[in-house]
Amino acid sequence: MSNNTELKKRGDAVIVGSYARYPAAMVSGLGCKLTDADGKEYLDFLAGIAVCALGHCHPQVSETICRQAQKLVHVSNLYYTEPQIELAELICQHSFAEKVFFCNSGAEANEAAIKLARIYSPQGRYKIISLAGSFHGRTLATVAATGQPKFHEGFEPMPGGFCYAPFGDLEALEAMVDETTCAILCEPLQGEGGVRPLVKEYLAGIRALCDKHGLLLIFDEIQTGMGRTGTLFAYEQLGVEPDIMSMAKAIGNGMPIGAMVTKSEIAAAFVPGTHASTFGGNPVATAAGVTTMNIILEDGFLHDVLDKGVYFRDLLVGLAKKFPALVTGSRGMGLIVAAVLTEKGISHGTAIVNAMFERGYLMNFAGNSVLRFVPPLIVTKAEIDEFVTVLAEVMAEIDS
Ligand SMILES: *Cc1c(COP(=O)(O)O)cnc(C)c1O
Repeated sequence: MSNNTELKKRGDAVIVGSYARYPAAMVSGLGCKLTDADGKEYLDFLAGIAVCALGHCHPQVSETICRQAQKLVHVSNLYYTEPQIELAELICQHSFAEKVFFCNSGAEANEAAIKLARIYSPQGRYKIISLAGSFHGRTLATVAATGQPKFHEGFEPMPGGFCYAPFGDLEALEAMVDETTCAILCEPLQGEGGVRPLVKEYLAGIRALCDKHGLLLIFDEIQTGMGRTGTLFAYEQLGVEPDIMSMAKAIGNGMPIGAMVTKSEIAAAFVPGTHASTFGGNPVATAAGVTTMNIILEDGFLHDVLDKGVYFRDLLVGLAKKFPALVTGSRGMGLIVAAVLTEKGISHGTAIVNAMFERGYLMNFAGNSVLRFVPPLIVTKAEIDEFVTVLAEVMAEIDS
């Protein structure tokens, strides 16, 4: 059996170094726990970056994957398959959407949204306004839509037709709208940007602006969707409906799958030949999605997510009281939760995450401003208690 050191050596020799990886090779997982190649256990509050909503290897999802893999793995979208139809039906029943386009990742879901917005809009309208601090993906178009210059550096020229409005400023946003604008794209709560929620009034203002100027409103719910915020989609709590929405991360509880959803009238702009994905809506991935979504929709599940989110954020407020030099408070929605750091805290952000990793607790430092926690939605209050207790120990060491 290979250990962490051997696997790190082999991996570094052959895998492109585009990630700063921790020196651990994960071997197995169950619920909120992961085990690495040295047999060390971790309590995982990152969940594959908000992906494994039902925890690792959820028995029903794993069973579905095995069953479907023995029946049919792939046929292309030249044919219908029932798992794909069933997942699209579920999404439409439980959201504003009437039509679904399946793909394999978040970036691809945003690509589909961007292409749909352009082809649906009258000729000459192509520009998409997004927000500073946003994150929409790493393909050329989605990185161009991302309102953080550091992600563009070295890859210029960026594809044209994207611009960025300062966060929270409706007037500045409206000033950017011109006769070439077709859509406004935003996350209802910025995930990578530092767990920053868009307040209701701001979102309502963006919706009104879209209506006034005939623009499409696109919500990127790749991270916030599928129960993460305590409702199936974050927009339900914010009182604003988009025209197009992208989702991905948690849909298949770890199977690679993304989706772009919209109203029938807008979807009609995509006809045979306009857009496609070979693997999109693959039977195994969509079957996993159906099982995952049915569990998230079970009575009480989402209510529990809201309840545990409040509990978690309260504990982090306690942490801020204990370590005011490091933490100013907490924010988030449901179980996308952040401890907001002070200047000093920010300077120790990476050290805090590393010290937690050493102790067997996984989380990350997001937006260069917050400690971000996106545990599996099945996390227990006891696990949250344990995590915050260890975090307090780490902070006590750093604060001393
Ligand atoms: C993760 C993420 C993406 C990109 O998804 P990939 O699957 O990595 O392509 C886009 N937008 C948001 C809000 C995300 O959190």
